[in-house]
Amino acid sequence: MPLLPCPECGRQISDQAAWCVHCGYPLTPPGHADRYDLILEDAGGDMELTAQCLARRLTLSLPQARELLFATPCVPAQRLSCQEARELQNELKYLCTCKMVRSRSLWTGETALAADPVQLDQELCRANVQGKPMTFLRTVGAILSALAIWSLFGAVLSSL
Ligand SMILES: [Zn+2]
Repeated sequence: MPLLPCPECGRQISDQAAWCVHCGYPLTPPGHADRYDLILEDAGGDMELTAQCLARRLTLSLPQARELLFATPCVPAQRLSCQEARELQNELKYLCTCKMVRSRSLWTGETALAADPVQLDQELCRANVQGKPMTFLRTVGAILSALAIWSLFGAVLSSL
């Protein structure tokens, strides 16, 4: 679990913590668990192209997008769903250095750079697996394989 400095007291705390264990400073309000923030670490080689992409994706004006890029590291988008975050990241990753991290209420330049990126493809798979109940076919498959193992077990036992 990566450690980050608390924006208030500067001591090391877990990046998953909802508040600082040393000074009680609130970090992540409830309900932030499966939301993602975009952190732009670097404007990329072609700043104009990055600005255009940001402006289009985040419905900003071009000057607003350029301003963001001059202020890196910055957090131009917050509380995205996994799907939104992944689409945005896929589009931006060829243009600039950006990463998706778990949402938190406060980012400083330092915590933004220290935060570990989230592997969104894996997150999406995990969400899909967790979200879907076991299908009928998979249930039947599981029962059949259990029976097969059981009869194999019986066969081994009787051959002894
Ligand atoms: Zn603190």
